[in-house]
Amino acid sequence: MEKINYKIFLTKIVQKFKLEGFQRKFTPLYREVDTFPLSKINFFNSKKNDKVTSANLKIWCTNDYLNMSHNPDVINEMISVIKRVGTGSGGTRNISGTTPYHETLEKTIAEFHKKDDAIVFTSAYGANQTSIWTLCKSMENICVFSDQLNHASLIQGIKNSGSECKIFKHNDLAHLEKLLLDTDISRPKLIIFESLYSMDGTITEVHKYAALAKKYNALTYLDEVHAVGLYGENGRGVAAHFGASHDIDIINGTLAKAFGQIGGYIVAEKYIINYLRSFAPGFIFTTSIMPSVAAAATKSISIVAKANDKRKYIKDQADYLRNKLRINRIPFINSDSHIVPVMAYDSDLSRIYSQELLERFKIYVQPIFYPTVPKGEARLRITITPKHSKQDIDDLIESLKQVVRFEKKVDDSASVMHQNKALSI
Ligand code: PLP
Repeated sequence: MEKINYKIFLTKIVQKFKLEGFQRKFTPLYREVDTFPLSKINFFNSKKNDKVTSANLKIWCTNDYLNMSHNPDVINEMISVIKRVGTGSGGTRNISGTTPYHETLEKTIAEFHKKDDAIVFTSAYGANQTSIWTLCKSMENICVFSDQLNHASLIQGIKNSGSECKIFKHNDLAHLEKLLLDTDISRPKLIIFESLYSMDGTITEVHKYAALAKKYNALTYLDEVHAVGLYGENGRGVAAHFGASHDIDIINGTLAKAFGQIGGYIVAEKYIINYLRSFAPGFIFTTSIMPSVAAAATKSISIVAKANDKRKYIKDQADYLRNKLRINRIPFINSDSHIVPVMAYDSDLSRIYSQELLERFKIYVQPIFYPTVPKGEARLRITITPKHSKQDIDDLIESLKQVVRFEKKVDDSASVMHQNKALSI
């Protein structure tokens, strides 16, 4: 048998991905504190033979949802801690990598969610992957129930565990119940879902999942990555909004989006957190987050908890944007969230929209296409922050009107689920 040539093998895979039009482009940008959403961006200009052009553009796709990475108090907190204890943490949590800043952060997160205890990881991705794996490994014969649109980190955690996984249709409680009914009541069960699906912007009725889980003696694992800081009393998330925080066993959140830092966490009852602290490899065997990040995140959470005015502003602005899209018959996915996906359907078209917005109107919105969303459901994912004004929205709408092709082109007719949800024309 012929020996494998690793270089050729891997290069061919990338070339195929590129040819299919699915390769992602990374655009370097400075999200400047003083001028955001106006920011300096370097991009490939198709009108100038793909030469790199630098320009001031308005960013419409950040996950720094509350602009907390630019908050002066958070920045000062981070700098003062760096000056006192330096940059890196110097070790894993077990080997000199635990500081009072880490301990305070975990206490703050647990109090924020009104849960027993919290454990911090280097990212929410890592938190999901290692926590799900660790939980499932402990329970022989566990059956996992996973929403069809769950994030890659949740899927990776399930896959790594090797546990049986039953996938229920997106946000379909009747289907979930059917799968639960079909599973022996004596088996351990874990229902994994998200409170805000970030590519659609749709919000999950979390309390209904909690009730179902109780009925079938299942544990619940809720990813609130895109919701913490933005929904519920004091921004405690969608579970809190539905009065269900107490009924959800495990909540995953991030420090990297509404809180504007880096890192992820799990909140739960003490027995679960103790178990993860003792056995989760992604917690034990990796260097802890920088002490300055822990301190900045603590500061950010305390500010976000009081930011009701910002939460209301974002909600009002998102409604304003949706209304304008509706009036102008631009297709989008309707929801009550701060995420507004404008549908292009076809992946080439989503790239064209994005490129034209960039070159003609100095607007930066990253196109989203397969494999991040199913084929035929490509879109521009727009996010609103407290620094986006009504005038910014009006300008965005005027530009979209020039860019959006109103005759629908779809690259895969077999997969058009979201067209039913979108207000398509
Ligand atoms: N969970 C969901 C639903 C996400 O969308 C993401 C990332 O965007 C993550 C987890 C990972 O979060 P982090 O960026 O903190 O690793």
